Amino acid sequence: MLPSFFDSVLQLIVRTSTDLPPDVRSAMRHARGAEPESTRAGQALAIIAQNIDLAVDNEGAICQDTGMPTFEVRVPVGANQIWMRSQIREAVAEATRRGKLRPNSVDSITGKNSGDNLGPGTPIIHFDQWEHDEIEIKLILKGGGCENTNAQYALPVELAHLGRADRTLEGVRKCILHAVWNAQGKGCSPGAVGVCIGGDRTSGYLHAKEQLFRTLDDVNQDGRLGELEASIMSTVNALEIGPMGFGGKVTLIGCKVGALNRLPASFFVSVAYDCWAFRRLGVVLNPSNGAIARWLYRDPSHPIIPMLDQAGFARTGREIALTAPISEDMIRSLKVGDVVMLSGRMFTGRDAVHSHLMKHEPPVDLRGSILYHCGPVVVKEGDGWRVTAAGPTTSIREEPYQGDIIKRYGVRAVIGKGGMGAKTLAALKEHGAVYLNAIGGAAQFYARAIKRVDDVSLMEFGTPEAMWHLTVEDFPAIVTMDAHGNSLHKDIEQESGKQLEMIGG
Ligand code: SF4
Repeated sequence: MLPSFFDSVLQLIVRTSTDLPPDVRSAMRHARGAEPESTRAGQALAIIAQNIDLAVDNEGAICQDTGMPTFEVRVPVGANQIWMRSQIREAVAEATRRGKLRPNSVDSITGKNSGDNLGPGTPIIHFDQWEHDEIEIKLILKGGGCENTNAQYALPVELAHLGRADRTLEGVRKCILHAVWNAQGKGCSPGAVGVCIGGDRTSGYLHAKEQLFRTLDDVNQDGRLGELEASIMSTVNALEIGPMGFGGKVTLIGCKVGALNRLPASFFVSVAYDCWAFRRLGVVLNPSNGAIARWLYRDPSHPIIPMLDQAGFARTGREIALTAPISEDMIRSLKVGDVVMLSGRMFTGRDAVHSHLMKHEPPVDLRGSILYHCGPVVVKEGDGWRVTAAGPTTSIREEPYQGDIIKRYGVRAVIGKGGMGAKTLAALKEHGAVYLNAIGGAAQFYARAIKRVDDVSLMEFGTPEAMWHLTVEDFPAIVTMDAHGNSLHKDIEQESGKQLEMIGG
C-alpha cells in the first residue's frame, strides 16, 4: 500500500488542530488593528492572539473543542478508498490518544463517549475521484459552538428586524445577515460564513460547509455571488456585535457563497458558521508512497509570524482579584464590564454534569464556588492529570438548569461564553451570583492559568463531560451578567437588532 499515508494524515490532523492557516491569521491581525486595545473587544482579541501563538509553540489544540473532523479526499481513478478510509480513522484515533483531538464522538442516545473520536458518522470522510495522479486531502475541524449557530431558511420567510426575505438574491442577503445577527457571540465571533443557495436540505448544508474550504481572500468566479459576498462584507460589521459578542467593529471575517440547483418548489438558504478558530488545512500526497508532496493553504518554507508577544494578559490595573470560595457581598459588588482575575478552586461542568445535578446531590460542596462551562482536553501523566486545552463552551445550553443549580447549591460564579438567558439572569439577581464570559476558543491561554488538577468526579460521563477539580491562578474573565439584573448580551442583541433593521431593511 502507501507506507507514508498514515503519517501524512496524522501530520495533517495535528497541524490543523494547532496552527491556523495564514489567511485566517491575517484576518485576525486585521481585526486586532480595528479594535482599540483598551476595549473589551480589544482585550478579547489580544487573548485570542496569544492563544494562537501558544498553540503553535506547544503544539497544543487551538481550541479544546476540536470539532467534527471532516475530510474531503480526492483520489486518482482506481485508488483503494476502503483502505484509505481505515487509515484516516486510525490516524484520528492516534491524534486523539496524543491529545491533539479531544474525544468528541458520543453515542447519540446514551451519550457515551467512544473515547477515540470513532463511531457511526465520525469522523466524516468524503471521497471523490479526479483525473489527476495525486491524492488531495483537505480537513476542517469545526466545533460544536459554531455548528450550533448554523441556520437554514426556506424562502419566502419572515425574519425578525428584516421583514420578508423573498426568493431573490436580496432575500438571500437578508438570510445571511439574520444568521450572523442570530449567532451573536455564541459561535465565537469574529467568524466566517459559508453559504449555499438552493440544493435540498441535506446538500445545501454540505455545500455551505464546503464553501469554508475557500480562502478568505478568494474571489467568487460567479460575479453575482461575488457581489453578494462583497455586499455582506461591506455592511455586516455595522451590526457591531464584535468579538465574542462584546460589541465592536469586527463581527465577520469572511463570507463565501455557492449555489446548487433546486427543486422549483424549494428555495433553501443554508448558512454554515465557523468561529475565529477556523481550522482548515490540506495536503497533496505522492500517489506512489503517500508522502506529503505539498501543503495546501500554507507554505512551510515561510516562517510563522507570531500574532503577539508573550507578555501575558495586558493588565490595566482595574482588574478585580477573586479567590474561591467567594462571598455573596463580593459578588454583589461586581457589575457588568468588570474584569476579574480568578484564583483558587474551580469546577468544570457541561451538559452531563448540569443534567446530573438536577437529580443528584453534587459530588463536592459547591457553596461559594466557581463553575466553569468547559470540556477540557486532559491527558494522563503518571498517577495524575494535566489539562492541555481548556477554553469555555457555549453556556446557553445550560439555560434550562443553571438557575436551579445556583439556587440549590450556592454557586457564586458561572464562567462560559456567549451569555445566558432570562431565567439565569433572574437567578443571579435573586441568589447573588454572576456570569463571567471567558474568551471562547482560547484553550491554550486558559490552560496556562490552570496550575493543578486536584481531582475528578463523574468520570463515567467521559473526559470532556466529567467534573474536573482545578486550581487556577489569575484566570481572567469579564462580568457580562451581574447580580443587579444587567446583561451585556441582552443589550448587544437589542442594539445590533436596531442596526440590522438599518442595514438590512
Ligand atoms: S472557538 Fe468557540 S465555537 Fe470555535 S470550536 Fe472553539 S469553542 Fe467552539
